[in-house]
Amino acid sequence: MKILVINCGSSSLKYQLFDMDGEQVLAKGLVERIGIDGSRLKAKGNGKEKLYEVEMKDHKEALRYVLEALTDEEIGAITSLHQIGAVGHRVVHGGEKYSASVEIDDDVMKGIEECIELAPLHNPPNLVGIKAIQELMPGAPNVAVFDTAFHQTMPKEQYIYALPYELYEDLKVRRYGFHGTSHKFVSDRAAMMLGMEKEDVNVITCHLGNGASLAAVKGGKCVATSMGMTPLEGLVMGTRCGNIDPQIVTFLMAKRGYSIEEMDNIMNKKSGVLGVSGVSSDFRDIEEEAKKGNERAQLALDIFHDRVRKTIAAYATVLGRVDAIVFTAGLGENSKESRMEICKNLEFMGVEIDAAKNDTRGKEVEISKDGAKVKAFVIPTNEELMIARDTLAITDCG
Ligand code: ADP
Repeated sequence: MKILVINCGSSSLKYQLFDMDGEQVLAKGLVERIGIDGSRLKAKGNGKEKLYEVEMKDHKEALRYVLEALTDEEIGAITSLHQIGAVGHRVVHGGEKYSASVEIDDDVMKGIEECIELAPLHNPPNLVGIKAIQELMPGAPNVAVFDTAFHQTMPKEQYIYALPYELYEDLKVRRYGFHGTSHKFVSDRAAMMLGMEKEDVNVITCHLGNGASLAAVKGGKCVATSMGMTPLEGLVMGTRCGNIDPQIVTFLMAKRGYSIEEMDNIMNKKSGVLGVSGVSSDFRDIEEEAKKGNERAQLALDIFHDRVRKTIAAYATVLGRVDAIVFTAGLGENSKESRMEICKNLEFMGVEIDAAKNDTRGKEVEISKDGAKVKAFVIPTNEELMIARDTLAITDCG
């Protein structure tokens, strides 16, 4: 059975078509600059690539080209859209309502709409993508897979902020956590690599990309995570500040007269390793500059590593016993330097990295020393496959 996975961002759209017999990727692609001059679709299929440089004024038009590419004579992986059994959609925020993936009906559409105020930048394009597929592929089952769902198992002391309790009751101000699909995928894989039953495993998963978050996973369930009500909380990220003294916000607004939008922009777009280094939000550029002796680039890396390291240690106290630490996403999968730095000073809890094994990129591999109490793994994440698996399981179209 074939499953199409769609991930709609504000001006971009990623897709993959899976054959679930064997979990093979048949086709994939990326649309950029939707609704902006210069929109284009890069589509791959049949071992070939095709570039569509056409005006795509909205997501529906973009999806129309995607469906065309999927059935294209040259690069098409299928001959008819009827061969697609179901469509899985990444949805960023499912609030408290969704603790698992669900088949989309009118009620679920309303539920996703209600979560817009919690994710104003992310849920609207997700909804637009779902609506477009409903129109372009009538009758095909659609499934929503939420970034927040995996974290809904957290105990209350992990998700309630120490604010007046009625703010939680009235406005649902609480920690939700994100990257859940990724944390679930790699924690499941870690249990397999440990050769243990998922129910018996305690693991700390480090999703380190442009956005970064950690999760503590006990017996296959998330018990703590570093992102909060929004993806701004927690670690230092590419352009996001992560945890800061909340009073800094009011201080800056008073001192500099910043508006809400300006404050938002500073914390989400101008901070993180970009803000500290003044170099870039891309860790590759910063690592390069740091090697050349740029002190602020080095400082940005030092701060980033310190926050990840401290959060790992904190999550060890939540779990009580740690069987494995997992590194995933762009930086986690590719930067041996970062993995090594992060694990420094974690020897006290049994984390020991083997420099030779750690000399690896983008592969599923153990990087801890033989006999280390806590195993360390690099596990490439695969959110699209996770979405496809959930979609298959829910629609039972296999
Ligand atoms: P997101 O999905 O959040 O945009 P990714 O998981 O794709 O992010 O990660 C992107 C980040 O990974 C880039 O900003 C880059 O800094 C980092 N990255 C990718 N490859 C490497 C590498 N070889 N060395 C260091 N960092 C890398």
